Amino acid sequence: MKFKTVKVGNLRTNCYIIFDEHNGEGVIVDPGDEAAKILPEIAELKVRYIIITHGHPDHFGALDELKKKTGAPLLMNSGDNWFFNPDRTIKEGDEISFGRVTLKVLQTPGHSRGGVCLYAPGYLFSGDTLFAGTCGRTDLPGGSAEAMAKSLKKLAQLPGETMVFPGHDEFTTIQQEKERGTLG
Ligand SMILES: [Zn+2]
Repeated sequence: MKFKTVKVGNLRTNCYIIFDEHNGEGVIVDPGDEAAKILPEIAELKVRYIIITHGHPDHFGALDELKKKTGAPLLMNSGDNWFFNPDRTIKEGDEISFGRVTLKVLQTPGHSRGGVCLYAPGYLFSGDTLFAGTCGRTDLPGGSAEAMAKSLKKLAQLPGETMVFPGHDEFTTIQQEKERGTLG
């Protein structure tokens, strides 16, 4: 498994392009804006899915254009589907496979009702649930501090060496966030 990060839009959302370097199959996670910046990065890839970690505009701004260009189906949790319908909903324990890569879905509500993280051994793509040194805000519609606390407890169960790639800013690890007290 390999991945690239493209920082897009005013909020510098991390759009991740995760792929199997052996057969070029991949996914786009959180195409927040600036399709023109994302397209060259997927030129050599066969995009199998577009995944949205949660339904906030800074995570799906370039969705329409990328769907048109790739024909890939949209996957997201049904908790955030108030703005449009995904082609397939994803929930806790689901596996998203492309090439030899499998991403496991962890449902992590709190920042929004339908927030998910994507896990492969060693890697967590955490959307706006967990950042380096803090968690996502819980005061937006559908947010819940209680749900967030439970979600962070769930993430604390992952191996400490797991590298965390959030929806904004820089990466961290589960161990580091445990030590900082971010995970409760
Ligand atoms: Zn958000």
